[in-house]
Amino acid sequence: MIPYSRQSISQEDIDEVVRVLQSSHLTQGKEVELFEEAICQYIGAKYAVTFNSATSALLGAYAVSDIKEDDEIITTPISFVATSNMFVALGAKPLWCDVKLDGNIDERFIERLITPKTKAIVPVDFAGKPVEIKKINEIAKKHNLLVIQDSSHAFGSSIDGQKIGTFADMTIFSFHAIKPLTTGEGGCVVTDNEEFAKRLRLFRSHGMIKKQLYNSDMVMLGHNFRLTEFAAALGHSQLKRLDNFLHVRDKIAKYYDERFKGHKLFSTIKLEANTTSSRHLYPIILSPALQCPKEDIFKELQERGLGVQVHYKPIYQNSYYKEKFGEISLHPKGTTHVSDDFYRSEISIPCHQEMSMEDTTFVADTFLEVIEKYAYRGCSF
Ligand SMILES: *Cc1c(COP(=O)(O)O)cnc(C)c1O
Repeated sequence: MIPYSRQSISQEDIDEVVRVLQSSHLTQGKEVELFEEAICQYIGAKYAVTFNSATSALLGAYAVSDIKEDDEIITTPISFVATSNMFVALGAKPLWCDVKLDGNIDERFIERLITPKTKAIVPVDFAGKPVEIKKINEIAKKHNLLVIQDSSHAFGSSIDGQKIGTFADMTIFSFHAIKPLTTGEGGCVVTDNEEFAKRLRLFRSHGMIKKQLYNSDMVMLGHNFRLTEFAAALGHSQLKRLDNFLHVRDKIAKYYDERFKGHKLFSTIKLEANTTSSRHLYPIILSPALQCPKEDIFKELQERGLGVQVHYKPIYQNSYYKEKFGEISLHPKGTTHVSDDFYRSEISIPCHQEMSMEDTTFVADTFLEVIEKYAYRGCSF
């Protein structure tokens, strides 16, 4: 089975991890700092604070923004649940704004959802394609809101040559095994705001500061969300090859774009000319005629060796959210009902740096064969 995404580990990565495992510090040494410096340099941002996952990084970013009980956050339902979960954990309420046909938040609706309780806008760069961050920033500035960008998919993506991570108040990246760069589990917050960076470091490590000798002081409530030294060494080593990974992903995506151009039964997501994408996912959007046999298509693709996946079930469709907030879905002022349809029509096909051109051709051929087999079968549209 060719998975939809997977890690790529070199001998150099392994050597780096082993080197740190044999050193004096497995945690709280120099490796995390070096990795954070390298991230800043790569992104072009002032501060990077690593965490043991993007989920804890999101919690940190929300907490240091002072997001709390009864605040409202405008966000996208087409994301991994953690994007909403972590501010709900602080007592805040999600207002889900609809997405566009590319899976990114529809910035045209954001302003309508703003109330006196709104604290932040949390967009997600779906599949690695940058959101319209400049427009979102303008809205936020006008209403004095924070922009916290969940760019878990988009490490290395850019707009006009400027890396994602330099636009929002805080940007979160994930280093989970299947994300563009990995530390096994891990994540980080990138920001140009010194105060946020300082508080994030406290939040990550018990809220404690060293004073003198054995005297330390706990100045805020914190957690232990630290990355280990060997995970940081892995990430640092991976970062050296990231541009290579992105190049391979882009080549695969461009090959698919060409093979699938103008197909009547599905479409693909187009990038703006001034942007680049990490190509974390290669999403296919099935036409309505194929939405009802999607389960059959999914099953057959898997049987034939394609590790396809669906991204994502809208967050509000999960039982927890239905029970907590009632049968709410998209905010009534922020919808053209694209999100539900997006879930019905999306399917992600394999696209990652461990695939050969032979694998890529096999995926494209198999996908086209299966789609054409199911065309117009058993649907009542
Ligand atoms: C993967 C992911 C997360 C969570 O990342 P972890 O590192 O697994 O905690 C959050 N948001 C989005 C959009 C993701 O894709």
